[in-house]
Formats: sequence, structure tokens, C-alpha cells
Amino acid sequence: MKNTVPIHGKGRDLLRASALVCVAMMSIGAAPTGSAPRFTHWIDGTTPGESETQVQRIDVDTFVIRQSVRTNFEAPFLYLLFGTDRVLLIDSGAGGLKIRPTVDRLIADWRARHGDRPVRLVVAHSHSHGDHHGGDAEFRDRPDTDLVGLQPQQVAAFFGIRDWPNTIGRYDLGHRVLDIMPTPGHEPAHIMIYDARTRLMFSGDMLYPGRLYVPRDRFDVFRASAVRLAGFAKTHPVRALLGAHIEMTTTPGQDYPMEAAAHPSEHGLALPPSAIDELEKAAAAVKSPPEIDRHPDFIVYPVEPKPV
Ligand SMILES: [Zn+2]
Ligand SMILES: [Zn+2]
Repeated sequence: MKNTVPIHGKGRDLLRASALVCVAMMSIGAAPTGSAPRFTHWIDGTTPGESETQVQRIDVDTFVIRQSVRTNFEAPFLYLLFGTDRVLLIDSGAGGLKIRPTVDRLIADWRARHGDRPVRLVVAHSHSHGDHHGGDAEFRDRPDTDLVGLQPQQVAAFFGIRDWPNTIGRYDLGHRVLDIMPTPGHEPAHIMIYDARTRLMFSGDMLYPGRLYVPRDRFDVFRASAVRLAGFAKTHPVRALLGAHIEMTTTPGQDYPMEAAAHPSEHGLALPPSAIDELEKAAAAVKSPPEIDRHPDFIVYPVEPKPV
């Protein structure tokens, strides 16, 4: 049996939150599109009995699941996005727990609020590293489920990306169309997913508050992805970037030790859109040979290429 923290903002709290949002929208005359989503404190390994997963709600159709650092030091963030016909799970975790019960519970709750409407689950991945598909096996025999492959050509085929990595795929969850942008460099099958409805960019391991690992021989590919990302952001408003990990502390430029067992004083999950320009500039300025490049909110981190 896996414990989960109750969804933030349920029941009376939800009504109160909705009322506050209404008041806020009335007072400023528009949705607060410029602000990053606000989250309560994430599980961070500092509490002995913390649950294996924590769910926080961005809106009624958008959820973040954090996997406890106590189950795997990577402590990844997973995202669940509902449309009217399909629900997309971005990443299935790092293993070390059963993730599907949390996903199934969120889907059951959503369906209960939508007259038991059927919704097909799509399990996709920010990229193919093991800390992002560790739960895939749990979904293989799940009814009404598509599991997207891990190779660039499989990702391209599923999302209709015709010229990987230069063109963008469009994927409709039902009244919610996502842009799927290839961003290889950290890993060859890496994608970012842009949701025009929330103006959020789900940025995987390419851009998050932590160590942005890039194999030393892949910086040209990484740089090209950073340029394409910056170009995309010029024509698509980005409210915030939500990545797959947090490895920075609240002290600017300071990360946790590798494989830290707890993350006291953790940096926030969301990065501001200005991080896109900062990343593009950092990628353009990479020296030869590349060096560790610390920024307040992230670190560009060269690593040895994986042996073929
Ligand atoms: Zn990775
Ligand atoms: Zn990762």
C-alpha cells in the first residue's frame, strides 16, 4: 500500500481557493498568466515518514506528482495533463515504488468529476534515462493505455514530428493541444512539451533548477536545441518552466551533493521564462573543452560521453 498526500485544495479548500482566484481575476481583470504556479512545500526527504508520492494541483486538469527522494535519490517530478479524450503522463518515475496507484487514483477522481467519462492514458517520457521510465512496466497491461517508445524515431512517430529534431509535433488531448518540441543534447530522445492552455513548458532534464548534464561531445546538439527553444518562446508565451528534478538549494548557484538523501531548503520547482534566454546564452558561451558553468538557478554540467 502506498501513501499519498491528499491533493492540495480539495473540498472546502478548493472552494475557498476558487473564490480567491475569482477575486484575483476580477481585481486585475485577467488571468494571472505572468505568474508561475504556486506550490506548497514539496516532500524533500527531511521528514522520516514522508509519503512515497506527493500530488499538487496546478488546475483541475493539470497535476504534478513528486516521487520521494527516499524511494530514489533522483526524486523526479511527473506531470499529468487531462484533455477531454486523453490524459498524458509525462514520465513514469525512477522506480523504487509503485507509481501507477497514484496515477490511477487521479484519473479515477477526474472521471468521477466528469460523469465517468472514458479517458485514454498516454504514457510518454521527457527522455529515455532510467529515472524517467522506471514505472513503465506497471502500465504495459493497463487497459486504454498507450506507452510511447523511448527512441527518437518512436517519439517522432507517435507525436507526428516529421523532421526530428527540427520540427514540432502537435498532439491533441481533446480541447487541449500540446506542442512537442525535440530538444536533444542531454539525451537524444529528449522533448519539451508546451501547453498553450496553461502556458507552461514541461522542460524535462534540459532546463530545471539543477545540474543540466550534457555529454562533452553533444554540446553542439544541446546548443542547437537551446536556440530552437528560445525561438519557440519568442512566438509562444511561456509562464514558467516545470522540469523533472530539483538539485539546487535556495542559495543561488549552490546545488546538493550528488545523490543527496535529503533536500533541505530546496529551490522552487518552477523556473521563470527568463531562464530560456539565460540557457541560450550559456550554451552559446560554452568553452572548449566545456567547463562547469554555475548560474543562480541552474548549472550547465559537462559529463563524459557514455561508452557506445
Ligand atoms: Zn536525464
Ligand atoms: Zn533525470
